[in-house]
Amino acid sequence: MNFYQQYINLGASANSDKNELKKINLFNVFCFVWYILILLMFVEDLVSFKQIKQVTWIACIPMFLLVLGTQYLHYKKHYLIAYILFVLTIITLTYYFSNYLYKGELLEYYYFLAPAIGLIFIDKKIINLTFLGFTYLCFFIPNLFYEHYPILTFNDLSVSFLFFSIYIMVNYFKNLNQKNEAELQKKSKELEDLNQFKTQFFTNISHEIRTPVTIIKGQVEELKHNVPQTPEVQRIEATVQKQVNKITEMVNDVLDLAKMQTSNFKLETKPYDIVQLIERIYLNFEPLFKQKNIHFYKEITCKNSIVNINNTYVERAISNIIINALKYTNNGNVTINITEKNNKIVIAVSDTGIGISPKNIPHIFNRFYQINNDINKAGGSGIGLAFSKEIIELNGGNLSVKSKVDKGSTFVISLPLLKEKSVKITSEDTNQKKSYKTIPTINLLKTKKTFLLVDDNQDMRTYLKSILLNIKCIEAENGEDALKKLQSHKIDFIITDYMMPKMNGYTFIKELRNLQYNIPVIMLTAKADYESKISILRLGADDYIIKPFEREELLLRIQHLLKNNKKRKEYTNSIPNKEIEKTEPSIIENIQKYIYENCSNTKFTQNDIATEFGISKSSLYRKLKSEIGLSPQEFITEIKLQKAKAIRMQQPTILLKQLALEVGFKHTSHFSEKYTQRFGVKI
Ligand code: ADP
Repeated sequence: MNFYQQYINLGASANSDKNELKKINLFNVFCFVWYILILLMFVEDLVSFKQIKQVTWIACIPMFLLVLGTQYLHYKKHYLIAYILFVLTIITLTYYFSNYLYKGELLEYYYFLAPAIGLIFIDKKIINLTFLGFTYLCFFIPNLFYEHYPILTFNDLSVSFLFFSIYIMVNYFKNLNQKNEAELQKKSKELEDLNQFKTQFFTNISHEIRTPVTIIKGQVEELKHNVPQTPEVQRIEATVQKQVNKITEMVNDVLDLAKMQTSNFKLETKPYDIVQLIERIYLNFEPLFKQKNIHFYKEITCKNSIVNINNTYVERAISNIIINALKYTNNGNVTINITEKNNKIVIAVSDTGIGISPKNIPHIFNRFYQINNDINKAGGSGIGLAFSKEIIELNGGNLSVKSKVDKGSTFVISLPLLKEKSVKITSEDTNQKKSYKTIPTINLLKTKKTFLLVDDNQDMRTYLKSILLNIKCIEAENGEDALKKLQSHKIDFIITDYMMPKMNGYTFIKELRNLQYNIPVIMLTAKADYESKISILRLGADDYIIKPFEREELLLRIQHLLKNNKKRKEYTNSIPNKEIEKTEPSIIENIQKYIYENCSNTKFTQNDIATEFGISKSSLYRKLKSEIGLSPQEFITEIKLQKAKAIRMQQPTILLKQLALEVGFKHTSHFSEKYTQRFGVKI
């Protein structure tokens, strides 16, 4: 904030509303103008050498002190007193100046200002009317006694008319302004509500879409295992897989866009060679252009090409623009041109397609805006360009367009170049492909077990049952239903969806805890709602899995949970009943939180936990073993891995080494081995 801004906000607080802030700013400006006036008077007096002492000492100094005092009260947030004092100061000074210092110079007209200024700052009618009457009297009465002016100078009716009409006019504009302001506030509140609704709607829809996508993915997996893999079957599988990935990407775009709007969406950036990125995009798209008989060129004429960006998101943004070029061009060519200009890298994607008319150009970067044409009728969502623009801007760049109908369009991206020679450039991500550890045999699942499956979606239940074919399944449609079923069945583990009618997964798990059920739970969630909701899970004893997931991933997670639970039971059975410590669930939660916050320290051990919570190491061991089934060291590792998973979700491109360090692993290879063992996914 610059000095001017700081000055005009003097006296404002974080919860000052818009109207109040306006008054505060205006008041500070008034005071400032007054200080300048005092200074000018002072200087004028010094220069003219007339009555230096009288004017300077008698008028300027007290005047300055009065304004300063008023402003101090205002600064201390005694607004009403400050405003009243301010108006009284104007009246007093006008009285003094017009009757003593500059008598006969018509300074009485300054009285007109006082009630008008009062009106601007003060809302209480009675105070304003008092000021009006009082100043009117001050304006008239002295003149009846002193003989500064010829008789009847101020007695003219038009003078009184002027006096009151100024007040009435200011009053009118003030009321009008307040009315407009209220209207505006109402409108912006409505817009905000609508936006919130939209975001919630996106989240819900994404959740709904993820369920069928998971099922389709699972079914394709099933086909791979159960149907002979003829070339035709493989082709169909590949096509379905591709389409499913496309849907997942689209849902991610919508969710990211919603997130960008509501929360402090931050992008992790790092130095990256943009030419390398474009080369890759070019290779990805080349076959598609070939299929459509469009020439696809790239021209690179830049020396520097290192920019500070989030490469995953920028790649999605540029790809959106190229997809559009492909979609809206029927013949001719599309060119990606990279140049360097004014310390910026400029990427221009030009096509010879249908073009955009001038009336549509200002709107194409708005969310959900689609031009009405035949190509759009066949599909599209209108979010591609909005997403690209937000992303490019979040990366410090700019996206603009030039276009002519039937001639073609050019989308221009500019990004600031990094100058430093020493920057460490990140190479292409080669480790993004997921690969699952093959699960040898899921022994625990072969023993007789019963699980409770809580999901309102019939298809999802059928899919999950088909994965867990050998295990007895009790089905429930929502949390409420599940709690009832729990009373009449012995359950070994629970799989629950997050979003369900009547009682959702979150409330259901909370109820389970209240009723002291110690059954391990796996919660199925969409990426959008995992962050806030997983906090209720007892890490190590419960787990969550994000849709769409794969069969192996789910099986591995269940196996892991059952193993922990078995260890817990074995431990509690091995010691006499009376030795089992009754542990408050909140203690485990606090320990969990403490580890989560401190585990980036590579020297963190169970001793730190024991000291922090004032318990012995053996007591810590007993508590964790009987509640979760894990030893303190295993529990620390579990939380470190969960934290790593959460960080990776937020920053998909984080370097492995950095991630390992953030959760307190000194050796990257050891970390990566543990991660893969735990989640079945290579990192
Ligand atoms: P959509 O999913 O409809 O393509 P976008 O946000 O990507 O959504 O684009 C918004 C609109 O801008 C599109 O409906 C399309 O009419 C227009 N548009 C975008 N790119 C081009 C292009 N290269 N040529 C012509 N029109 C384009």
